[in-house]
Amino acid sequence: MLSVSQAEATILNLIQPLNPQLDTETVDLLTASGRILAKPIISQLDFPHWDNSAMDGYAVRYQDVQHTTPDQPTILEIVEEIPAGHQPQSTIHKGQAARIFTGAIIPPGADTIVIQEKTQREANQVTILAPPQPQEFIRHRASYYQAGSPLLPAGIQLNAPEIAVLAAAQCHQLSVYRKPKVAIFSTGDELVTPDQKLQPGQIVDSNNYALHTLILQSGAEPLMLGIVKDNPEALTQAIAQAITIADIIISSGGVSVGDYDYVEQILTTLGAEIHIRAVAIKPGKPLTVATFPQLYFGLPGNPVSALVTFWRFVQPAIAKLSGITSGWEPQFIKARSLSELRSDGKRETYLWGQLHLVDGTYQFQPADGSSSSGNLINLAQTNALGILRVDQTQIDRGEEVLVLKRGGR
Ligand code: AMP
Ligand code: MG
Repeated sequence: MLSVSQAEATILNLIQPLNPQLDTETVDLLTASGRILAKPIISQLDFPHWDNSAMDGYAVRYQDVQHTTPDQPTILEIVEEIPAGHQPQSTIHKGQAARIFTGAIIPPGADTIVIQEKTQREANQVTILAPPQPQEFIRHRASYYQAGSPLLPAGIQLNAPEIAVLAAAQCHQLSVYRKPKVAIFSTGDELVTPDQKLQPGQIVDSNNYALHTLILQSGAEPLMLGIVKDNPEALTQAIAQAITIADIIISSGGVSVGDYDYVEQILTTLGAEIHIRAVAIKPGKPLTVATFPQLYFGLPGNPVSALVTFWRFVQPAIAKLSGITSGWEPQFIKARSLSELRSDGKRETYLWGQLHLVDGTYQFQPADGSSSSGNLINLAQTNALGILRVDQTQIDRGEEVLVLKRGGR
């Protein structure tokens, strides 16, 4: 049986990012949120695009005001007023100034801004009360970015700061990676949908819904194939269909060693190569990973096991596929455990709970009640998984525990 880190390495090796030439689409700025940039951006605009004022004040020639002292203020003639968005009309000559506002273009001849707090105005005259620094409060053209140089690299996720930069650079149509398509289905004769009345022995399918959410949160597109019965024909048909439409296929259930657990057998019949049959993880041991070449995850049916194996193994795989060049590895944090944690030490054990930052220290509080893999209910309202390594049977209250942060990127 593979260790968790061996399984992780195997899975990440099996996945290649989407192709930056073929697997792209064009979006505009209002539909770019969270998408992954497929081509580097180079702007033809300098930032700032013009020399402009960083403050409200007066545009002056430094040489006219440099000898100003409190006893010897400098009086200049105001020849123009330049609000933001207006083109200066005059050149500033010796003894002259322009009233100017933040963001407005510096008029020719001026080289320095004196902030209005250091001036006094009377009609068309301004008295400079203190000497500025040379070039003070001028934002020089191209001082933040020079046209033609790299602006944003490919493979980054577009969030508010990047979208602001793209808007400023007038890049309103962008090439992004298409969303990975992830087909999902649940297997089990006992499963019914949440709107069906339960007959004796039936169980509501929660995995399809949980996985649907997780896939959306991973920036991918879920393709819902519903509930598939525990029989070879139905499973063959579902898997054969899934591989024609998806980049990744996720099924839950049917990967244990029970008489009705057909998934592995059918994967083999359909020509898949099986890479993983079980992983030393608790919950989640019966995890099947295969390639068609599309990656196939046969998650355990148990709802908690399905979620834990998704967070630990599937989420990084979707992130790597998506084209993002960094940050797809799982995020671990060291925290203090607020309760004693226990495991039998045989498999790497994941206990769900709450991670909080208190006075600069991360604290992990395991969920109340049992961490039995059958208990889906106390998984709600948790945000992290505390980890006990193989052979680590106990972490005392107050001791350090490694914690996997869940959720999107
Ligand atoms: P299996 O892995 O198919 O042996 O299923 C293990 C346990 O998880 C059984 O108790 C199943 O009834 C339950 N189970 C399987 N699939 C689902 C599902 N989609 N939603 C909720 N429970 C499930
Ligand atoms: Mg089953």
